[in-house]
Amino acid sequence: MQRLIYASRHEIADADLDEEVNVIVRASIRNNRTVAVTGLLLVHAGRFVQALEGPASAVEQTYRRILADPRHTDSKVLKAEQAPRRLFADWNMCARRMTPADDAILDTLSQRETFAPEHLDGDVAERLLITVRDIQTRTQLAALG
Ligand code: FAD
Repeated sequence: MQRLIYASRHEIADADLDEEVNVIVRASIRNNRTVAVTGLLLVHAGRFVQALEGPASAVEQTYRRILADPRHTDSKVLKAEQAPRRLFADWNMCARRMTPADDAILDTLSQRETFAPEHLDGDVAERLLITVRDIQTRTQLAALG
């Protein structure tokens, strides 16, 4: 099992962001399901931070396809390692756009005044995505009542 975490800068107008992220997530779920890739996509302050996990060859092929996507640039791998278990097993892909109320969490975790995930150490980036995962899980459970 391989896990890869990267950060990139998106090239999508703010007005189109929700719709475009939905398109990306729909394609991701469709593709990732067939190759046993799971993960999480954080969308915040002009940046993407994404975890991909699954069989090494599937993660590599998926990341290679993502790298060529013109909807983002400046992709930087923050962490790539063999992992004993999945951290994002619930989702073939799930995107989380942070709300203003979540900003303080992100700023603290990213250790800067403005969100600049490309400078994060890989372990810190992983902790950031785990925090986002937990927020997402709580939000989904709350929605279920
Ligand atoms: P389709 O989704 O049908 O797209 C066909 C082609 O059109 C692709 O080359 C695609 O890149 C391009 N395209 C589609 N819409 C646009 C657009 N609005 N602007 C520019 N080009 C466009 N894919 C995954 O499979 N798994 C992932 O986890 C994943 N994560 C992603 C994360 C990010 C931040 C981004 C930007 C993209 C991600 N993608 C992911 C999408 C990936 O880059 C490819 O677009 C997708 O895998 C291609 O899927 P498809 O062959 O089903 O083609």
